[in-house]
Amino acid sequence: MTGRARQEAAVNALSCDLEEYFQVQCCEGVVAREAWDTMPSRLAASTDRVLALLEEAGVKATFFVLGWNAERHPDVVRRVAAAGHEVASHGYAHKMVFEQSPDEFRADVTRAKALLEDLAGRPVLGYRAPTFSITERSRWAIPILAEAGYRYDSSIFPIRHDRYGIPSAPRFLHELNGADDKGIEDEGRGRGTRTIEELPATCHLPLATGHSSLIEFPPTTLRVLGVNLAMAGGGYLRLLPARLVRAALRRVNGLGHPVIVYFHPWELDPEAPRLPLRGLRRFRHYVGLRRTADKLRLLLRGLAFTTAAAVVEQWMLDRR
Ligand SMILES: [Zn+2]
Repeated sequence: MTGRARQEAAVNALSCDLEEYFQVQCCEGVVAREAWDTMPSRLAASTDRVLALLEEAGVKATFFVLGWNAERHPDVVRRVAAAGHEVASHGYAHKMVFEQSPDEFRADVTRAKALLEDLAGRPVLGYRAPTFSITERSRWAIPILAEAGYRYDSSIFPIRHDRYGIPSAPRFLHELNGADDKGIEDEGRGRGTRTIEELPATCHLPLATGHSSLIEFPPTTLRVLGVNLAMAGGGYLRLLPARLVRAALRRVNGLGHPVIVYFHPWELDPEAPRLPLRGLRRFRHYVGLRRTADKLRLLLRGLAFTTAAAVVEQWMLDRR
């Protein structure tokens, strides 16, 4: 298949981390965890904005929901599930994985999964760590996720960053602890040519994955002069011109790989109360907030998106 044909055939994953504007890592120290319950909540209103945008675009997405929020806003999770989106897990307490003990982590991801399955009425297959905090020092988390019944993870960011990332990690979908858990670089994989209509909207991953392996869907990067650059979500997407991001994502599709884009409901909510952040933290949290919705619309018009579980399932079928 040519690069152009791969671009046309590619179906990508869209993901939203369901958390409040004050739960972001850069707000730690400004809003203490103990004070979360005293903050004005924007979760329901900002999630409804996301749901409206997705409905307008006719796109299903994956919502990585924080268990703490699911407990306080069960109706929001039910609305997400009722609209046909995938409910996945962002853990319970939004504590960095490398700051937890393995036992604490096991309890956190198990609690969140049970809570979310109860609300969604479907198995929860995917996990994303708070602030992509599965790094070299928290790789122990991977078998724990598999044991807890998760089937895919989207936490290992193959970039260099002051808080997270494993710069040498594979950039594309791969099996963790499996034969292909090594740097697979820009080679085409020769995907099938199924259209988005032929992909399952909800997905039950084949049992063949077994208990010991987990599929990793790394946040998408572009490789420029040997360096992996983040661009497909959060502050990166808010900072960069949307057309540039779209062209970069198409380039990844042309290599035969699906991309995963991520954002947060608070990024579509510029009216949320302002927090007294300073310097780099202030910049990271507030840059480009007013333009996020339009940028997402532009990406959704130019590329095909569905849930992460559906993309993972298709990838597994294609490699058999
Ligand atoms: Zn988060």
